[in-house]
Amino acid sequence: MRVAVIGGGVSGISSAIQILEHLKSAGSPVEVTVISEAFSPNTTGDGSAGLWGPYLLGGTPTARVHGWSKQMHDFLQQIWLTEDACEAGVCLLPCIRLTTTTMDNDVFWKDIVYGCRQLTQKQLDELNVGRTKKYTAGMHFITYTSEPVKLLPYLMKRFQANGGKIVQQKIANLEEFISNSNYDVIINCTGLGSRECVKDGGMFPVRGQVSRVKANWLYYAFLDESDHGNYIIPNCESVVLGGTHQENDENLEVCSNDKKFIVDGCRKIVPGLEHAQHLCDWVGLRPGRGTLRLEAEKGGKKIVIHNYGHGGSGVTLAWGCANDVLELLKNELQVRKLTKSKL
Ligand SMILES: Cc1cc2nc3c(=O)[nH]c(=O)nc-3n(C[C@H](O)[C@H](O)[C@H](O)COP(=O)(O)OP(=O)(O)OC[C@H]3O[C@@H](n4cnc5c(N)ncnc54)[C@H](O)[C@@H]3O)c2cc1C
Repeated sequence: MRVAVIGGGVSGISSAIQILEHLKSAGSPVEVTVISEAFSPNTTGDGSAGLWGPYLLGGTPTARVHGWSKQMHDFLQQIWLTEDACEAGVCLLPCIRLTTTTMDNDVFWKDIVYGCRQLTQKQLDELNVGRTKKYTAGMHFITYTSEPVKLLPYLMKRFQANGGKIVQQKIANLEEFISNSNYDVIINCTGLGSRECVKDGGMFPVRGQVSRVKANWLYYAFLDESDHGNYIIPNCESVVLGGTHQENDENLEVCSNDKKFIVDGCRKIVPGLEHAQHLCDWVGLRPGRGTLRLEAEKGGKKIVIHNYGHGGSGVTLAWGCANDVLELLKNELQVRKLTKSKL
């Protein structure tokens, strides 16, 4: 069986690994190829901090997001407990989430992260000392970052070590590719690219600009959830300062006003950043959609599964969504009786 996964971002590589490893272990002859216009370090995830946390997912049902993100958290825990943690860029990180308005303390993911606690008034008072911005609610928890610029090469190495193939190519029209290519199964993980290649008018960009600084003394994430709040997320060698979320803005250039908002805002949260060495700025377009699309197409000759529209959470959901892609594929194979009884 020949499988093509279109898209070499975190969703595509995760889906490709799970399909390849499952079918191989089931003894099925299988060839899995990831076909993508770009690979790491040039995908949307590569500039992100890769902090675990559901964000900007439109109306995607909470129960599904909970399941997908829990699987990714479990996957990151598995990596963190091995000698691969450093290579994969997986770090365990304490986080403080703050707001100047109100905060839902019953967030649906509080059982997934470690030790999620609401900040007491005393803790908030202590935090507010010397700040012009007074936080009114907050929570503390511990979770993972998986820095995509490290995680993606790590996952690609695992995929290729198992015989997975990589082809650099842009697919202009997925329907034509499905008809004209000799793949039996096509998995679409093209993110915002689905706007063009499957003509999905529901896709829209959510622009995000961040800065990276050197601040090795900082190992706490601060997430200001107020409207137009800033965030500070340490990675292995740098700290990500954010950020913007501008819907329908396609501008890939670094914007100086956004940079000022980011740098000034983060310095207000952690004044020591004033002297941090600036490393770079980066802009990416999150693949926004009313709801994430994860489904098999009905009725075609070939098996076609879509997995795109992960908004601001593609890293957080990658392993869980990839698992659902595999389950959909197994169902489709059974329905079509293309597979052996082992599957
Ligand atoms: C500033 C910023 C910060 C972020 N921070 C986080 C975070 O901390 N945690 C988190 O979970 N998420 C975060 N995100 C969101 C996350 O980066 C995305 O949700 C994620 O990258 C989506 O992954 P994807 O694989 O679905 O899409 P992408 O990463 O966009 O990958 C799509 C792939 O498909 C390829 N492609 C597209 N069209 C075609 C085509 N026609 N033919 C062939 N190939 C094609 C592309 O080249 C690319 O390889 C952040 C995003 C931004 C912009």
